Amino acid sequence: MGINIESLLKKIGNKFHIEELYDSEEYGLDIERARLVSGLEVSGELHHVGDGIIRLRGTYGVKLEIDCSRCLEPETGSRFKDIKGVFVPPEYEAEVDMEGDEYRAEYQENSLSLWDILRQDILLTIPMQPLCRDDCRGLCPVCGQDLNEKDCGHETESIDPRLEALKDIEIEE
Ligand SMILES: [Zn+2]
Ligand SMILES: [Zn+2]
Repeated sequence: MGINIESLLKKIGNKFHIEELYDSEEYGLDIERARLVSGLEVSGELHHVGDGIIRLRGTYGVKLEIDCSRCLEPETGSRFKDIKGVFVPPEYEAEVDMEGDEYRAEYQENSLSLWDILRQDILLTIPMQPLCRDDCRGLCPVCGQDLNEKDCGHETESIDPRLEALKDIEIEE
C-alpha cells in the first residue's frame, strides 16, 4: 500500500497528515512466534525536509498474538508506539542525519510505504523467547503436559549430570 507523495516532493517544507490502516489479512510479520490479530493503524505526519528526504513522525497501534516459548500458549497484547522514519529517494546513497530511534527506508518514484519500518519496529518489541508470564512452567518434556495447568508427576527439574558440574560456575557479565 503506497502513499502518493508527489505533492510532498514539489516543495521543501511541504507536509501532510496521514492515516493508514494495514490489514492483518494482507500484511504479516513473517515470523513463527507472533502474528497480527488486528489491522495496524498508523497516523502522523510526513514532512519533506529537503533533498527529496521525507521524515515521518507518527504513532501506531496494533494487537499481537505472541506464543509463549515455554508452554506455546498464545498471549494477546496491544502495542501503542511512536514511530519515526526517514525516507530517501530510490538509490540515494548519502548519509542522512538521523536520530537514534529513526528507521531509514527508500521510497519508490512517487510512492512511499510505511509497512517495512512498522514491521521492523514491531519485531523489535517481540522478545526472542517470549513468556506468557515470568514463572511459566512450560511443557513436561516427558509427556507434553502443560505444567501450568496440572502436574503430571514426571521428574522435570533433574539436571543432566554432565551439566551438574557447570551449575556452580559463575558467569561474569
Ligand atoms: Zn507459558
Ligand atoms: Zn509429564
